[in-house]
Amino acid sequence: MSTLIFEESRQGRKGYAYPAIDVPEKDGLSLDAQYLRETDPDLPELSEVNVIRHFVTLSRRNYGVDLGFYPLGSCTMKYNPKINEDLASLPGFLGLHPLQPIHTVQGILRLLHDITTLLCEITGMKWGTLQPLAGAHGEFTGMKLFRAYFDKRGESKRKRILVPDSSHGTNPASAHISGFEVIELPSNREGMVALDALEPYLDENLAGIMLTNPNTLGLFEKDIRIIAKKVHAAGGLLYYDGANMNAIMGRVRPGDMGFDVVHLNLHKTFATPHGGGGPGSGPILVAERLVPFLPLPDIVKKGDAYGLDVDRPDSIGRVAGFFGNIGVIIRAYAYILTMGADGLKRASDLAVLNANYLKEKLKKIYRLPFDQVCKHEFVLSAKDMKDRFGITALDIAKRLLDYGIHPPTIYFPMIVPEALMIEPTETEPRESLDAFLEVMGKIGEEAEQSSDRLKEAPKNTPVRRIDEVLAAKQPVVRYKKDG
Ligand SMILES: *Cc1c(COP(=O)(O)O)cnc(C)c1O
Repeated sequence: MSTLIFEESRQGRKGYAYPAIDVPEKDGLSLDAQYLRETDPDLPELSEVNVIRHFVTLSRRNYGVDLGFYPLGSCTMKYNPKINEDLASLPGFLGLHPLQPIHTVQGILRLLHDITTLLCEITGMKWGTLQPLAGAHGEFTGMKLFRAYFDKRGESKRKRILVPDSSHGTNPASAHISGFEVIELPSNREGMVALDALEPYLDENLAGIMLTNPNTLGLFEKDIRIIAKKVHAAGGLLYYDGANMNAIMGRVRPGDMGFDVVHLNLHKTFATPHGGGGPGSGPILVAERLVPFLPLPDIVKKGDAYGLDVDRPDSIGRVAGFFGNIGVIIRAYAYILTMGADGLKRASDLAVLNANYLKEKLKKIYRLPFDQVCKHEFVLSAKDMKDRFGITALDIAKRLLDYGIHPPTIYFPMIVPEALMIEPTETEPRESLDAFLEVMGKIGEEAEQSSDRLKEAPKNTPVRRIDEVLAAKQPVVRYKKDG
């Protein structure tokens, strides 16, 4: 365990030196006594070198894609080219203020307009907004668009949103907080939406369906055109959760599948180092009939100039301050331009190839409940190991930490017991895939030999296995100086 910075504090130690104040104090200008604090703030007192060593030590305990393999399914933790960081840090971007007069920010407006056009091309949609600050925020915005669309048509009773049982938790949550009733659709034996489960809901109460394709099992919903036709025929709309876009960029477009609203996670598919909750960007792109409802302001091109259009009486209004998470959007723009159409296609192809390579090798050791060609990710189950040796997905994940590898996503999707959801991404070379396979093989052997080593893992990490029951029952969430 590392010490807290407060524990390194020594009374009177300083990391700074200010020159003495050389302006005289002026009477009558001091703060009212009621605003003055009576005691000094309880801040740590350290020298500069203490502070630097403290934080550098902590930073070395971080794990990230820049250090090693990070097969976190659903999250697309790929290596992000550093050129995107450089471009997002250009002084011209860093110095911008969102309230500058329009004629002084033509460059960034052009970039925002251009990337919206590019994202429409990639997804097969008409227009969009860059405002949402995460995928879940895009979902929320999309649900607001559904609502506005139906209200405008006098179909306010359309309140039901269908969500498959393999869906990401944000989908039902977004539909619910937008005032919709969420109906869970069961998956069939192939891990796809069961078409007959759809039938009972195809009526005048249907608002729509939220899908990700490929789904969270990494499987492509082959019946998507049929699903779209049925939902549209019943008067509903289709929402596309684009978190898995890394599997199909340049190959298939959600618009061509029949979707009406798409969100993209720029921070997953289009290059931004993420994790730990941010930063994110979840633009949504929509079909023509939903354009009038998009958030304001819209960025428009008039001749050679760019401007902001606020004349949209049916707009749902703003969903974020200003233009969204600009730094992430710039990285995505740089990524798309440097990759080009062929590069994006190739990235998807390699993501799919890498996933299938791992899947074919690992299914010999771990159970693969849905044994098909996958897209960018696949889901194993440790259920057999649990039954035979008492080893759970959590134990496997913890043991991976000992071997210096970030674990895959576990216990999601919920329809697979003891799920291990693996997404290698396109940026991993064969060697790192093979190294992961070797470790997964070793862990399989360890499970058979003795369960202790796995139950006690991780042993090589700064923080060992946490007693989750105790942590839940007696959580210590605040540091107190003296015990
Ligand atoms: C990550 C993810 C989301 C949510 O996106 P955030 O950007 O984390 O809000 C939604 N659906 C799927 C399938 C995801 O993987």
